[in-house]
Amino acid sequence: MSARGQVSAGELLQLVRSGRAVTRGALQQATGLSRATVGQRLDRLFRAGWLREGAGGPVDSPLGGRPSITLEFDDSHAVVLAADLETRHARAAVLSLTGEILAEHSGTLAVEDGPDVVLGDLGRWFGELLEKAGHRAEEVCGIGLAVPGPVDTASGRVVQPPIMPGWDGYDTRERLARAFTEATGAPPVPVLVDNDANLMAYGEQRTGFPDCSAFVLVKVSTGIGAGVVVDGSLFRGVDGGAGDIGHIRVGAEARCRCGSYGCLAAVASGGAVARRLAEDGVPAASGSDVRDLLAAGHPAASALAREAGRQVGDVLATVVTLLNPGVLMIAGDLAGTAFLTGVRELLYQRALPRSTAHLHVMTSRLGERAGLVGAGALVVEHLYAPERVEERLVALGV
Ligand SMILES: [Zn+2]
Repeated sequence: MSARGQVSAGELLQLVRSGRAVTRGALQQATGLSRATVGQRLDRLFRAGWLREGAGGPVDSPLGGRPSITLEFDDSHAVVLAADLETRHARAAVLSLTGEILAEHSGTLAVEDGPDVVLGDLGRWFGELLEKAGHRAEEVCGIGLAVPGPVDTASGRVVQPPIMPGWDGYDTRERLARAFTEATGAPPVPVLVDNDANLMAYGEQRTGFPDCSAFVLVKVSTGIGAGVVVDGSLFRGVDGGAGDIGHIRVGAEARCRCGSYGCLAAVASGGAVARRLAEDGVPAASGSDVRDLLAAGHPAASALAREAGRQVGDVLATVVTLLNPGVLMIAGDLAGTAFLTGVRELLYQRALPRSTAHLHVMTSRLGERAGLVGAGALVVEHLYAPERVEERLVALGV
């Protein structure tokens, strides 16, 4: 919070959105601003359509006197678009500013076709989804994109991805903004790009565990990656590489898609389990095939998933010891009872009891929607962050 007298409209909005102060009196108390100054700043937020009076009616004022009207974030003034790319499959959605999915589509889209084709297709999907949701393209405030590879979030470019040929260094933000405009005729909007495990972690933490100050999600599909949320923010490391645990060497001989040998992903990912099954004559070519076999209770698939869980659990013992998370969530194609059992076996054996005393190990709650929810939330947090609100209010002429 800035010094007294300099608290901005954006900071007041943040207090209301977070639920920390939702009446004029509470905002005065939280900021030290006068009633008149709070009123002036709120007036701008009302004129922008970003705030409304709460549906719950007046509540007792912290300053005494008459009951106060409550304020809430008005999520009806804009919508956000989100997409989550898998290697051969993608999901896209229109979401409300508070994270509700208003329209959704999933279908075949192969990242190996390259960014120009894939992002062009996503633009068209977005156009159709907006129609389905009954929203105009001009209402879209931004787009969030989850990709299965490492991302430099400052530029939005994918960096040396092992499973995304043709994407290295490509200007993903520019292409997706242009695809949206080509499909809808609306002006370009900001595009944010991040790694899929990061956005899944962000989506799950915010919707299910907002009070958990150290949250880890591990996605086990074609590859293996982890997202880390610390004190409500994504922890990406200095190069966006934090959580890229799939390429930790575990000493096996299998060749990994990154070019090295013995990576965790080469022995314990959905793709690795599919290869082992295929060697034994079970028809499986991908992590999603393994997912289907697990869902059908296939015994060999379950046994291999449990073994993969043990291998990942061994690495997670180090992760848990380093970060001491409250929640360790398993997501992706292998997420299920067999894999989770394997993770627990090794994790509790190898990690310090002190690091696991308050640890909850569980499977994903949002399932296949986690990346979409996280991508939408990232866009909203970016656009309504206090440091960006002033500029946006001025652009709206309020
Ligand atoms: Zn590797």
